[in-house]
Parts: sequence; structure tokens; C-alpha cells
Amino acid sequence: MRYEGAVYRPPSEAYSLIIQVTLGCSHNKCTFCSMFKDKKFKIRTIEDIFEDLEMSRQHYKYVRRIFLADGDALILKTQDLEKILIKIKELFPECERVSMYGTPGDILRKSEEDLIKLKNLGLKIIYLGVESGSDEVLQDINKGVTSEEMIEAGKKIMRTGIKLSVTLISSLGGKEKWKQHAVESARVISEINPDYLGLLTLMVEPNTEIYDKIRNGEVTLLSPKEVMIETREFIKNLEVDNCVFRSNHASNYAPLAANLNEDKERLLEELDSIIEGNYGFKNESYRRL
Ligand code: SF4
Repeated sequence: MRYEGAVYRPPSEAYSLIIQVTLGCSHNKCTFCSMFKDKKFKIRTIEDIFEDLEMSRQHYKYVRRIFLADGDALILKTQDLEKILIKIKELFPECERVSMYGTPGDILRKSEEDLIKLKNLGLKIIYLGVESGSDEVLQDINKGVTSEEMIEAGKKIMRTGIKLSVTLISSLGGKEKWKQHAVESARVISEINPDYLGLLTLMVEPNTEIYDKIRNGEVTLLSPKEVMIETREFIKNLEVDNCVFRSNHASNYAPLAANLNEDKERLLEELDSIIEGNYGFKNESYRRL
């Protein structure tokens, strides 16, 4: 397979075969995101994608999972995604799941029937970057959608039976908007009730707009302890069922894991203990995206 530029994938796809079906992200305007700044968005041709799949088949004896990159593979026309999923079934009968990132716009543009067709052909997980449930924060970060559209998109995926994995980013509203970021994110995630929820912590990259906003004082970063207070406020307000929660990414100051709401009380106690200073925080220099 041939990769163009840096390739990103969710942590849970660490052992998946990655095939680029798009280059970059069609939105590419989020103020905190530096992932695809160097790439002009493009959908690759079906011929190129098939060639990559065939090359991969020659290389790998056993492929359990395939992740279709880059930023929002779900932007492809349903009929093209169908062709790709059928080709995967032919070439990799052992493959248990295909996954991809989808933006709210991608999800809302597709009908539920089309999404179910894709599920039946092997699309098992969609990763959706919610980032924040606060409309003000979503506007500040230039996400290009409202919290209501985010809820609509998330609930649509949940209705289809495709697994939904969403991410939020703590500290995204800064000291100025931390409370609404926490409370409104809990509202949005509670309404969606996703299968998986990942909470990352903001990493500030120099080539992003948020970097400039922090430098000129528009946004003030939270300290590690304040990030935990924000996380506690979020968890306190969250009401979900059967949701696997993880906040143990390289960007996080302290590792957290729970099944929610089942483990909510235990998680709140753990957060209280972290806030009281009973554990150390990850050193800033060890944090990664
Ligand atoms: S956060 Fe996601 S939607 Fe926003 S620019 Fe980055 S890849 Fe695109």
C-alpha cells in the first residue's frame, strides 16, 4: 500500500490495516487540529484503493481489522463504499470489522437505509469527534456543526446498529468556558448514549489557530488539576447506559477507565482522590497526541 502524508487512526485501531480512501479532511478548519493541515482534501479513485487492498493481501497473511482513513472516509458516495466493502470481503474473508471516521455532515447526508447497507457489508464502527457539547465552544473551535446536529448524527448511527465511538476533548473551552464545556458535553453524550466514549486532553500544536488564541489571551489553558475538576463535572452530569469510557490516551494527565453508568460512583471517587492530590499527573513532556 502507498501512504500519502501523515496517517492518523484512533488508538483502538493500532493493529488494523490502514487504507487511505481519502487524503486529508474535507472540513480541515477545526482550530485545535493540525492533523491534515499539509494535505489538500481528495477522494482517491476506486482503482487506487483496490490496488492498495490487493497489495496488502499479498503482504499480510491475516488481517482481522481494517481502518479506512483519512479524516472522514464516510464522505464517499454510498455506492463507492459498498464497492470497497465488497472488495474487502472478497480479498480478506477473515476480516472481522471495518471502521472509519465520519463527520456529523457525512452521517446526516446518508440515509439510515444506506448506513444499514454498509453495516451489513462489514462497516462495524464509526468514530465521531464530538469534541464538545457546548454550542459556544463548538463555534469557537470552528467545528462547523451545532450540538443538535451532533446529537442527531450520533443517534442516527446508534439506530443503525453500527457501533459508535465518540471523542471529547477536555480543556477545549479553556478556563473561560470549562463549566459549560463539561455540563453541555454531558448533555450531548447522554442524549447520544454511544457505545464508546473517549476523553482526550487538549494538546496545543504551534500550527493551529487555538495556539494563537492562547498566546493572545483569548483562551486560558486549564492546569492538570483543573482538567480533573472539569472531568468530574462532566462525569457527574453524565447519564448513559452500557458505555465504555476511556480517558487513558497519551494526551491525558491521569488514566481513567470505567463502564458507565455502572461504575460512575467509583469513577467520581477516583477523580476526587486525584483532585485531592493523591496521585501525580503525567509530566507535560510525556503527553502526546
Ligand atoms: S478535528 Fe476532525 S473534522 Fe476537525 S479538522 Fe481535524 S480531522 Fe477535520
